[in-house]
Formats: sequence, C-alpha cells, structure tokens
Amino acid sequence: MQKDFEQIPPASLITPNAPIATATHGGRAKCLQRLERLDLPVPRTVALSFDAVHSIAEGQMPDLTAVLAEFDPESLLCVRPSSEDPDWGGPGAILNIGMNDARYVDLCDSLGRDAAAALYLRFVQSYAVHVARLDPDVFDDVEDGGPDALSEILHAYEAETDEPFPQDPGEQLAAVLRSMARAWEGTSARLLRQAKGAPADAGLGLVVQEMIPGVGQGECGSGVLQLVNSTTGSPQLTGRYLSQSQGRDALGAGAKALYLARDTRGLSLEELAPEAFADLQSHAALMREKLREEMQLEFVIENGRVHILDGVRVGRSAQAAVRIAVALAEDGIIPQEEALMRVDAHILNEMLHRQVAPDAKRDVIGRGIAASPGAATGKLVFTAAGAQASASRGEPCILVRRETSPEDVRGMHAAAGVLTEKGGMTSHAAVIGRGLGLPCIVGASNMKFHSKRKMLEAADGRVFRAGDIITIDGSSGQVLAGQPAMLEAAQDGALQTLLAWADDARDIGIRANADTPEDAETARKFNAQGIGLCRTEHMFFEPGRLTVMREMIFAETPSGREAVLERLLPMQRDDFRELFRIMEGMPVCIRLFDPPLHEFLPATRTGQRELSEALGIPVSDVTRRVEEMGEYNPMLGLRGVRLGVTVPEIYDMQARAIFEATLEASKWGEPVVPEIMIPLVSAKREVELVKARIDAVAAAVKAERGEDFTYRLGVMVETPRAALRAGEISPHTAFLSFGTNDLTQMTYGLSRDDAGRFMSDYVNQGVFPEDPFHVLDTDGVGELLKLGVQRGRAENGEITLSICGEHGGNPESIAFCRDVGFDYVSCSPFRVPVARLAAAQLAISGKTGQTAPTYTKY
Ligand code: PEP
Ligand code: MG
Repeated sequence: MQKDFEQIPPASLITPNAPIATATHGGRAKCLQRLERLDLPVPRTVALSFDAVHSIAEGQMPDLTAVLAEFDPESLLCVRPSSEDPDWGGPGAILNIGMNDARYVDLCDSLGRDAAAALYLRFVQSYAVHVARLDPDVFDDVEDGGPDALSEILHAYEAETDEPFPQDPGEQLAAVLRSMARAWEGTSARLLRQAKGAPADAGLGLVVQEMIPGVGQGECGSGVLQLVNSTTGSPQLTGRYLSQSQGRDALGAGAKALYLARDTRGLSLEELAPEAFADLQSHAALMREKLREEMQLEFVIENGRVHILDGVRVGRSAQAAVRIAVALAEDGIIPQEEALMRVDAHILNEMLHRQVAPDAKRDVIGRGIAASPGAATGKLVFTAAGAQASASRGEPCILVRRETSPEDVRGMHAAAGVLTEKGGMTSHAAVIGRGLGLPCIVGASNMKFHSKRKMLEAADGRVFRAGDIITIDGSSGQVLAGQPAMLEAAQDGALQTLLAWADDARDIGIRANADTPEDAETARKFNAQGIGLCRTEHMFFEPGRLTVMREMIFAETPSGREAVLERLLPMQRDDFRELFRIMEGMPVCIRLFDPPLHEFLPATRTGQRELSEALGIPVSDVTRRVEEMGEYNPMLGLRGVRLGVTVPEIYDMQARAIFEATLEASKWGEPVVPEIMIPLVSAKREVELVKARIDAVAAAVKAERGEDFTYRLGVMVETPRAALRAGEISPHTAFLSFGTNDLTQMTYGLSRDDAGRFMSDYVNQGVFPEDPFHVLDTDGVGELLKLGVQRGRAENGEITLSICGEHGGNPESIAFCRDVGFDYVSCSPFRVPVARLAAAQLAISGKTGQTAPTYTKY
C-alpha cells in the first residue's frame, strides 16, 4: 500500500468529505460517496479500507462497536465488496445482517410474518453457505419463503453446526466481514482476478450499508435501471422491478418482474408508482451527467420512496462501448479525447467482424492460434476446389487444410473461414485471412487432420466429416461444433465519429497492406492513408495468371522468360493502374516479387499433369523441374532481392508495369508518385544492382512515352543484417520499411510457418511473454529496429521510416513504433481502425499522461 494512504482510518462513514478514494477503498465506496455528493437518497454506509480488510483476513478486526454505532440499532445491514476495478469482482453481497429471533418477532408486527420470515431466511441461507461454508444443497432448496421454511432452515443450521444460529449482530457482522476478506485472499479468487488484469496485491474494500428492506407495507420492492441498451449502446430505458423483493431478485429467472417504462407486454413501474419512476429517471440522468458514465442503478422502493443502493458502470459490448463514449462526448459530458481513451482499441476487432454471441453455448472441439478475428459457420471442406464448389452452391464452408499455399487462395476467397493444422500468426493462411477479413485459426495442433480421408478429429475423439457443420472463432482460437448464435458486425456512425476524432489526435501515419483492388477498397473504407505494402506475388494467384507464371518459371533462357513476361506485363500494369485509381493520389508502396519461385509450382500429381498439358511437355519434365527447384530452406533461399539479382527480368517487368501504370493513372488527376520496395535485402550491393536496373527501366519508359514521372525507391528491412547495415543502405533509398514478420523469424531463428506447433507451450511456460509474431518483441527484434532507425536516419535525414509486418496493426507494437520514431505503420486493412484508435490513444497519453487502456507498456 502506498505511504500517503497509511494514515487513513480503517472504517469511515461515507459522507461528501470523508477520506474515501478508489485506490484505498475501491470503486463502489467511491461511487457511493459521489452519489452522496449529488444529494441522492443513498442509505447510510460505512466503508472499510483495503488495509482494514486485509487485516481482517489476517485475524485483526477493526472496532466493530464503532461501526455499528454509525447505524440505527433497529436497522439491518448488508455488506458488499468494493474492489478497485469492479471488473475484478469480489465475494457476493450478504444482505439482512442483524436478523435474529428478536428482530424477527418485531418485524412480524411491523412488516407481517411472511415478509419478516423472507428477510431472516435469506440471511440464514447466505450466512450458512457463504460464511459458515455449509453444504449449499441443504440450504438452497427451500420450498417457500414462509415461517415454516424459516424454522426448518434454522434447525438445519443447528444440526449441521451443533450451534444455534448466531444472534448477536456484532458477531454476525464480524463473521461476514471475515469470510468475505478471506475469500478475496484465496487462491482461486486471486487467479480469477489476475486473469482479468488485476495486480497480484489488488486490495478489497468492503462497504457496510443500512438495508432498505424492499419488503413491507405500501409499494416496496427492488430493481435495476440503466439508460442504454448494453448490446447496442443506444438510448433505451432498461431494467426490471419486482415488488416485495431485495437485491437483484428482479433479474432472477422466472421472477414476475415489472417493466420499468409503460409497455404493451405487461404492467410497468411507471403505471404502478409514477412518482418513484419519475424520480428514478431523473436520478439516473443526473448520475450519467455527473459521474460522466453510463451507470446501472440498483434501487429499492420503500413505501413509494426511492433509495439508490449502488451504481455500477453499465456492462457493454464492443459496439455499445463505442456508442456510449461517443454519446457522452457529443452531449458535452466528457471531452472527445476522453471518449477516445475510454474504448480499448482491441475490441474494435470484435465490432468489425461477426462474433459468437457472448451468451451462446460453445461446444469446443479444438483450439489453435486466433489468426484472423471473427467467427464463421459452415460445412467442412478439405480442398480449395471443394470450397469453390460449395460457394457456387451458395453454401458457406470452412476450408480445412494442414497448411495453405498460394494454390489455396482461390478456395480461401470462396470459404467463410479457414482452419489449418500448422502455421503461426504470420503463416500464409493467417496473412491472407487477415487481408481478406476472413476468420482464421492456424496451428490447431490438438486436432487431428485426416485430409485425405476428409476427416477432422476433435481433441476429445469426436470425428467430423466433409459436410458437417462447424464454427471457427478466429477471435478466440476456438473450433466449435455446430452453429452457435452470432452477433453481427457493426459499423455504425458512432465508430466513424470516434475514428475521425482519432485521426485528429494521432501523430503517426496508418497505411494498409493491400494486394488487390478489393483490399484497396477496404483500405479506403477504413480511411487508411495509403498502401504501405502491396505484395505483388498475390496478384499471380488468379487461375489464368498462375499458368502464365508457371510458364515463366519453366522458361529455360532469359529470352524465353522475357517472352512470357511480356504476357504478364499488361496484367500487372492493369493491377497497378487499378490500385492507383482507387487510392486517388495517396501513396502506394509496391513490393517487388518476394517468394521462392517454386511456391508457384504444383505440388500434387494432378497439378503437375495439368501443367504438363498446358505447356505441352511430358509430366516427367515437369516433375523433374519441380524437384530441381526445391530448396531445403526456402524462406532463406532464392527469394526476394536474390531473385532480382539473379533473374532480373522479373523485376524489370514489374518496374515497367508500375511506370506505365503511373503515367496512365496520372492522366486522371494529380501525378502519381509510386513507391517501389525491394524485399529481403541484406547487402548494400543488392540495392545498387536493382536500383541501377530500375532506373534504366524508368529512363526507357520516359523516353518511349515522352513523358516524365518520379518514383521513390525503398528497401524492406527484414533481415537482421539489413537492420545492422541500415547506415550504408539508407543513402541509396527514399524509405526503409521494416518487415517484422521475416525479421522476427530470422532474429529468433524461428520458422513463422512452424512456430504455431509449440508457441502456446512456450507462452504458457513463460519462455516468451507473447507470441512474437503477434506482439513485437521489443527487447530483441525491437533492438534491431532501433539500430536500423538510428543508423538509417543518421546517414539520410530525409528518409521515411515505417513498419509493414503484421505487428503494424497491434496496439502494443504501435506504441513501440511511435516511440522509436516511425513515420507510419502499415497493417491488414481490417486492422486499420484498431491502429487508428490505438495511435490516437498513445498520442493523447503522451500529451496528458493519461493511461491508454491496457497497452501503454510494452
Ligand atoms: C515481413 O516479412 O514482415 C513482411 C511484411 O513480408 P511478408 O510477410 O510478405 O514476408
Ligand atoms: Mg517478408
């Protein structure tokens, strides 16, 4: 506990000026003090500090006589938990402390026998189960709440404990406080709250409050009320009221609760007690305005008079969180910057995709890495062709593969979701899935994939065959049997408003990784400021092009190759022109061809036979060439700039296509200035060689067309050597873009396609704090980034620096990129909104010191 708080008294009556703080007494105690300050009808309450509760757990009780002296000796009491953050939970409230045989007799006179029995019964039940820790089966199962049940349960208590039910209110209170304090310190409660982000030493406060019974003469009862719908966040008076009830009984299943506002479906509080209803509404509006938050009120009506027992932050879905924050700002209750800080950027991922409904039952049959968010249900298919056939029948399907390759891309386009056995956060399926906004789980290694037999075996042995319906939840990594209820994606006006505010606040650029016109449209829709990475190889996956590409790969001589490239040129030119058109003058960074060529060759016998037919050569030739081109370690083999140096015709063709498209697109508006990026560089000489050829192509196109243009050449820093040698590379380039997928792979010596198999073990055992392909390893990979930035900038003050690996869309990683001084981050289009909000929050917290939700520390 901090020093400043050492002097605070263990127990304080909550008054407007009492020394109560969230950090010492918890959120509930503080909220009750705020309600007091608003002059709302809050029952008398004493708050016990975290220190006091900790001492109680250790056996030291504060002066309870003094606590009891704060209350009318006639009143009953309740104790509720007050943790610092209400989300961390706490033991359940205990009501009606002080009930004993004598009070029962008194209350029979004033409230009637049934009401008095109900109050006593409730207390004995919760005391027996939660304080004396007796068998719940004995005490929960009571036929009715009347006097007979009461005497039955008092006898049961005596039979179980060999003692009569405690009668002294002081003794009762001490036992309740002790049990709640100890419950908080127990291992399971600790683990539970730590999982919700609570620190190991999180404190618990307790509030002791005078009970307003909710049962008795006149209109009495209890209920809850809030002003918004928790799912949508739209204004809607929501809640229930139950006459002659306590606590949250009105929300109980089967409770004959009333609607609050007039309702055609049944009786409402508005009709039953119009004055109380009007008071409640005005109290709720005042709380919203003054507590600057949407609150749920817990209230009691006592003979027509309203009491507010408690206010808790309204629980909310992602969509509601955004709407509520925006509405509070639009109503002038909080500033825009605060609205931005109130929404956890990670949850936008939920909003932008269909999700499994939070209350849906989940029949989990397997787990993997949550590689692309959103949920999808469909029939199992095991081949890309099967997915296309299913799509043509209009049947949603889930494509299941051991891993995906370029040949599967068409099938991925056709599928509703993708599930793979192998792979990690940056494997092929994951990257393509995120690019398409397609739910995807990779590395589901606890399931067995019998692809040939078209069978998927669940971790528990259940078998699913082609055509069976499953659901994948790409947000949690869970594979589910059947079709749970779904929550639709929501892109409402409130989100657009919030993101527009985010754009005003942020100080780092956000671009999108976009390979196709559809991706570019998505990037525009999410207001990306350009394309930061166009992986040109993805343009060759169209079936018609794949064959031409394969012909090019099979060409034996440079001239033969050039002839095929001539046919690819117009296709690429059209692709680029389309991207320039969609992006309307925004920067478009095109990466030259990167993958090993043999990735484009057919791996199966059938594919090889088809290729032999297309090329008019024997299958054996095809098979031989495919084998010849195989590499032991393709990711470290002949790929990226190494192709540019050894097979330069490909880059020549791509550069020409880019320049010709530039001239054509420039006719529609402002001149286009394309950015061309060289992948997998590790040596300065590679850059010099490729640059010389691209400059020559540029000169040739200018001469042929008689028109001028400029372009920016850049280097992708994705090998450790390129980061270390950034100082000698940067004078040759206009920009450096850090490819943290490969850089992570090479820094760890960890295959991005295979890491998924053991990543969860590594994270569970604390070897890695997080999957480094998901959250940037700021210590190791980050050190290389820092060196690259410093060395690159030292030798070229004008250089643009950015990151285009998948980390660009991860809030924790954006924090690092901003601190290191990158000009922009580039990520999958669907992650652009997350990145925009996260970047704004980081800028605001940099300015104000306010903490951005959950990820300011990396
Ligand atoms: C990278 O390596 O970080 C990158 C963006 O390129 P790719 O994922 O295409 O290898
Ligand atoms: Mg790469």
